[in-house]
Amino acid sequence: MKEVAILGAGYAGLRTLRELQKQSDLHITLVDRNDYHYEATDLHEVASGNQPKEKIIYPIKDVVNSKTTTFIQDEVKKIDPDQQVVDLKNNQPLHYDYLVVALGFETETFGISGATENALEMVDVQTAEKVYAHIQAMMKKYKETQDKKYLRLVVCGAGFTGIELVGALHEGKERYAKIAGVDPAEIEIYCIEAMSSILPMFNDKLTQYCLDYLNKWGVHLLTSSPIKAIKPEKVVYGTDDWEEELEAGTVIWTTGVSGSHVVGDSGFSEKRGRVMVSDDLTDPDHDNIYIIGDVSAVMDKESNRPYPTTGQISLQMGDHAAKNIQHQVKDESTEPFTFKSLGSVASIGNTHAFGYVGSTAVQGYPASFMKKMIMNRSLLKTGGLKEVMAKGRFDLYH
Ligand SMILES: Cc1cc2nc3c(=O)[nH]c(=O)nc-3n(C[C@H](O)[C@H](O)[C@H](O)COP(=O)(O)OP(=O)(O)OC[C@H]3O[C@@H](n4cnc5c(N)ncnc54)[C@H](O)[C@@H]3O)c2cc1C
Repeated sequence: MKEVAILGAGYAGLRTLRELQKQSDLHITLVDRNDYHYEATDLHEVASGNQPKEKIIYPIKDVVNSKTTTFIQDEVKKIDPDQQVVDLKNNQPLHYDYLVVALGFETETFGISGATENALEMVDVQTAEKVYAHIQAMMKKYKETQDKKYLRLVVCGAGFTGIELVGALHEGKERYAKIAGVDPAEIEIYCIEAMSSILPMFNDKLTQYCLDYLNKWGVHLLTSSPIKAIKPEKVVYGTDDWEEELEAGTVIWTTGVSGSHVVGDSGFSEKRGRVMVSDDLTDPDHDNIYIIGDVSAVMDKESNRPYPTTGQISLQMGDHAAKNIQHQVKDESTEPFTFKSLGSVASIGNTHAFGYVGSTAVQGYPASFMKKMIMNRSLLKTGGLKEVMAKGRFDLYH
């Protein structure tokens, strides 16, 4: 019986698992450092304290069929592609015939001084919970000191993640203000961005929709403001000609992500933890290793740039890797991957959203409704109906 190892139980890994489990002539080993799957697309809800972590996680065992699959909760340290072995922190090395690397994303600081030490990251459940605990601690500190910097929250980066976080923080203001003993209007939210405009993936009308809300909410959006350094409770930004410092108790880093460091540590040919995979999603040097989700790069032939790494493409890659492994097991040729974009919708708060469904631009309530439907669909793809019923978002009429 062929051995398949899947590393990572995120969107890409779990989708592969669910498809492969339909085939009984394989043994699968799934490895993740956690015993739960988390919806990474909802991490900003936990970081802002708007949702408890329980709302965005479910046990991995719920989707593991013990007849075909062994789940190991452990940390993946390194892959040896030539020996076909995976080193784990606490368990025996894992041997495989086929490997699926789906280890997801990490914070990318682009070498900005002090970013690792002095800014909070939001890349998994633990770091998201840490952000909320920190915000609460800063509000208490304001109460003791009356120093306004503790009421200031800075989001570094106005990309998709940064903007969704800003919307969620705005919704959390009332709660933060209660702890600090102030009016919610006194909580200041800043978003600092190097580029002169935000969200280049959306058209001007959609971007304006977002800007209007940020403006109405009193969010300080600083564009054309490259961050130079993060010092303790201070963000330094500017160019060669000018420099400003902004004091803030809470600084959250969302300027970008790279793929897992395990990819580079294992000697794959990569850039920022991502491997430019072959058409069938295998590593160019190893046709029994599939590299999918945020650790991979797939070229969009139209734009001649890699597709942005998203949950959506990760799910489709998971489907495809499973299909190609089934082909290989039967000595058939693999198929090339093609990404079918279903669109992209960004939320700003629970009831406002904007983006594209297919190629149709949507904003406001219809967009918010669509966003919730997209999240439910992705939950269905990894967790099945049980998890949608337990965790799905059905508060559609707010
Ligand atoms: C706030 C936010 C909002 C987003 N919104 C959207 C959106 O609206 N739409 C969209 O399509 N995308 C969105 N994204 C992007 C999306 O979340 C990622 O592209 C997606 O999570 C990538 O899926 P993945 O399966 O590759 O990895 P991940 O979801 O990162 O899963 C990786 C898994 O690997 C495990 N793991 C990692 N390293 C190790 C190790 N060394 N050992 C053992 N286990 C390990 C982790 O525990 C995790 O379970 C958003 C991201 C964020 C942060």
